[in-house]
Parts: sequence; C-alpha cells; structure tokens
Amino acid sequence: MSVLSDLVSALSAGDIEVVDLTSPLSSETAVLQLPPEFGQTARFELEEISRYDARGPAWYWNNFRTGEHTGTHFDAPNHWVTGRDGADVASVPARRLVAPAAVLDFAAEAAQDADFLLEVDHIKEWQSNHGPLPEGGWLFYRTGWDRRQRQEEMLNADVTGPHTPGMSVECARWVGEESPVIGVGVETVGTDAGAAHSFDPAFPCHAFFMGNDKYGLTQLQNLGRLPAKGAVVIAGPLPIVTGSGAPARVLALVER
Ligand code: MN
Repeated sequence: MSVLSDLVSALSAGDIEVVDLTSPLSSETAVLQLPPEFGQTARFELEEISRYDARGPAWYWNNFRTGEHTGTHFDAPNHWVTGRDGADVASVPARRLVAPAAVLDFAAEAAQDADFLLEVDHIKEWQSNHGPLPEGGWLFYRTGWDRRQRQEEMLNADVTGPHTPGMSVECARWVGEESPVIGVGVETVGTDAGAAHSFDPAFPCHAFFMGNDKYGLTQLQNLGRLPAKGAVVIAGPLPIVTGSGAPARVLALVER
C-alpha cells in the first residue's frame, strides 16, 4: 500500500497537516435553544467518578451527559421527519466518513449581515472558479461564526429570535436534491439559519438534507485554515445505536 506509506511520510515531514475542526466539549459549549414549548437539548456535563482518591486510588475517570446535538456534531438522516426511515448515526457507512471538502467562505458577508443566506448562485460562482463540488464530499460553509464560542454570541438572539447565517430554501433544496455532496458543514449550532423557523418549509437544510440521505456537521472551527478545495475530512460521530446524531471529532488533512 504505497499510497498509505506516502501519506505517513508526508505527515512526518509536515507536507500534510492535520487541522482539527472540532470545538472543545465542556459545560460552556454553546447549545441550540428552541422555543419553550419544545423539548430542549442538554449541555455537556462531566460527573467525576474518582480522581486518585478513595473512590479509585490509582485512576481518574468521569461519566458524561450530553445531547446528541451538542458541540461539533453529526446530523444523521433520521434526525428529521423527512428522513425518519433513513439511517441512524450508527448506520452511516464508515466509507462516507472520509471525504473531500469544498470550503465556501462567506465570513465577510456574514459579518455585515448576521442573517446572510447562501444562494445557489453563490455556489455556482464558486464552481466557476474552483470546479464542481466534490462527488461524495462535503460543502463546508464558512461564516466566521467559530469566533463566537460563548452561548449569547453563538445564538445571537433578540426578541425576534436567533440571527445566524444559513441557506435559502432554494439553496437547501438544490444542495439536498441536485448537488453531488453528502452534506454540509457549518460553524453555527445547526445547519439552518437562525431565522429558518419562519421559512417555508421551516428548517429547509434539515428537511432537504436528511430527506435525501445527506448529513450535517455543526460548530466546526478552523475552516479558515483549509483551502477552497483539496482537503480530506475525517468526521467520526459516536456510533450511538438508533441515535439521531452524535458529537464528532472532525479532522482535515491539508497539503502544505
Ligand atoms: Mn444537529
């Protein structure tokens, strides 16, 4: 397997860098908040079992509690009603967890307008510069939101609800139904815009991605360290049997 030998050599030489796209998980990690009539996702919490003490003199370990959709996480097809008969997170084929990524940078636009929406024309313009989106790969949508790790900054809510960038209904439909990608990765708490509760259909990214056996990746960091094309991403959600998603360690291999 000379390809893998070459990969190991390139990693050793620093010709390939491993960029960690994962937000640290702690009780401070920002989480989605829904209107009060709905069920709420849990924050990440650690419960100490022992720490070199009477409960376990030579060992330290914790239990943890978390929502499936807390921090950098993977949305499986069965997360949404449109994909209710689709794969749970443990059934997503491992082959699909290693994939190329296209990175579309709209951080400048999102800095000007927190409700910025990606349109099909934005993607087509990217393709005219960089070529087609990768078959079986990811569309990573950079908005600069990874600088906002605190809950209030991440959700950016006012009396009208959260204001965070996302995609238009038509763009979400195109990505789900027509594009060659297996999913979309974002820096926000969900793939949909903060205002997407008011779209028709509501939460179109979830509706069109999950309904087309596609995935979401959220709360990514360091997308600014990736090239527009050429990175290879390893996205590893925990294989929670029957689960709708899971926290994931997401790494990118980048040629230097
Ligand atoms: Mn999610």
